[in-house]
Amino acid sequence: MSALPATALREVFGLSHAVALITGAASGLGRACALLLGQAGAYVAVNHLPGSAAAAAAVCRDIEAAGGQAMAVAADVSQQEEVEAMLRQVVDRFGRLDILVANAGIENGAPFQDMTLQQWQQVIDVNLTGSFLCARAAIRQFLRQPPQPGPPRANGRIVCMSSVHQIIPWAFQANYATSKAGVAMLARTLAQEFGPQRIRVNAVAPGAIRTDINRPVWETQAALEELLTLIPYGRIGEPRDVAQAVLFLVSDLSDYVTGATLYVGGGMTDYAAFRGAG
Ligand code: NAD
Repeated sequence: MSALPATALREVFGLSHAVALITGAASGLGRACALLLGQAGAYVAVNHLPGSAAAAAAVCRDIEAAGGQAMAVAADVSQQEEVEAMLRQVVDRFGRLDILVANAGIENGAPFQDMTLQQWQQVIDVNLTGSFLCARAAIRQFLRQPPQPGPPRANGRIVCMSSVHQIIPWAFQANYATSKAGVAMLARTLAQEFGPQRIRVNAVAPGAIRTDINRPVWETQAALEELLTLIPYGRIGEPRDVAQAVLFLVSDLSDYVTGATLYVGGGMTDYAAFRGAG
């Protein structure tokens, strides 16, 4: 997963005994974050939808095989009662919560004039309301628990998985782009609201990363070549590229970083079409 051995990861990033909940962690970016945070010493709760129990169990096995501790926890992040039950399960098992990576997300696009209310609502419910529910549950827990033992550090760290579409408009995906713009503002607002309690909240905004959510844009050579015209750095992203950014933001190395968005997109937000034009 990382070029650094686990002992070095633990020493550099200092996550030993921190408890991390990662939503949508049975696949893609969430899975990569779970594995890397586990290697860095965190106790990891791997959230998944009920249908992904086997994949989540496999992620837990991989973390444990690398010497870490993990639990799988089913919950639909858009459902208040399920999110609250999930938090209780995590705290029952690991005693506290220090890190939330609000990663679960979906796409369900359509030409705007054909987009149904249900399509709109489904994406907003999972991507934006799911981030709200998970962040609220995490912050309530951060506020009620004693500080983590060890050197002084933030009393809680949240990373919201946004997208370059928090800033790049995305035709035919109005629900998704709007949800991610909302996620980015949620992160900034929470950073402002909870700075005095030393709770840090940041967003990571991936560009095009090779996962199931966007398979059609990298599956064929022709599609990949077209995609690469949008990426100045000249390659598609891999899940570990995002996980490494998340690891930085949940570690003490970023202790003075809050309310920020870290773009992980090979320069996708830098208007590639303007190279030699315009
Ligand atoms: P993915 O489809 O592999 O992962 C999404 C995960 O979320 C899946 O495991 C899915 O089961 C889970 N999920 C969906 N609805 C859920 C719900 N209601 N409750 C709990 N879990 C739920 O795709 P991914 O690329 O790993 O996406 C992860 C996040 O990264 C998403 O928020 C996505 O919007 C964001 N993102 C991805 C890319 C990319 O290029 N892959 C780019 C920008 C942003």
